[in-house]
Amino acid sequence: MLAYIGLGSNLNHPKKQIKNALIALNSTKDVKVVSLSSLYQSKPIDNSKQPDYINAMCQVDTYLTALELLYICQDIEIKQHRVREKKWSARTIDLDIIIYGVQVIASKQLIVPHPQMMNRAFVLVPLAELEPHLKVPVLGAIQDLIAKLDISKLVKL
Ligand code: ATP
Ligand code: CA
Ligand code: CA
Repeated sequence: MLAYIGLGSNLNHPKKQIKNALIALNSTKDVKVVSLSSLYQSKPIDNSKQPDYINAMCQVDTYLTALELLYICQDIEIKQHRVREKKWSARTIDLDIIIYGVQVIASKQLIVPHPQMMNRAFVLVPLAELEPHLKVPVLGAIQDLIAKLDISKLVKL
């Protein structure tokens, strides 16, 4: 199955955190990181006083189920010392499953496609870089989603 995982970090050397998470993902049994977007710099989504984020998107090819993949992502977050404070607080690493094949999932633990992706330039722009003609399950063409958003504040590094 082809899936897209969004990565974000704004603490403790964000670029290194993203690199380490990618290495960890790719070292997981039955997970191969196939492609990686450029790095992007974005402002915190709640405009709170915390450092800017570094974001990236990767495509993985996996035999894991979506839920198994989520557990792997959470495991990597724990290993990279993510501390859960309040929602959207600063973090060493955040791994979100953005898309998992054409599956549409709405369970307590996992919602796919990611429920906020259409509102986030730092998700859509790197995703479109990897797959400019992507049709997102339920949501439609990636370029149409991007057209509805202000992407001017997202900085490509
Ligand atoms: P947001 O979800 O708005 O990006 P966040 O990434 O900061 O916020 P977290 O604290 O990392 O939120 O995750 C909260 C919960 O979201 C997780 O425990 C997980 O079960 C759930 N979740 C639901 N859908 C997804 C998904 N597609 N990818 C990752 N986690 C998800
Ligand atoms: Ca997130
Ligand atoms: Ca998350």
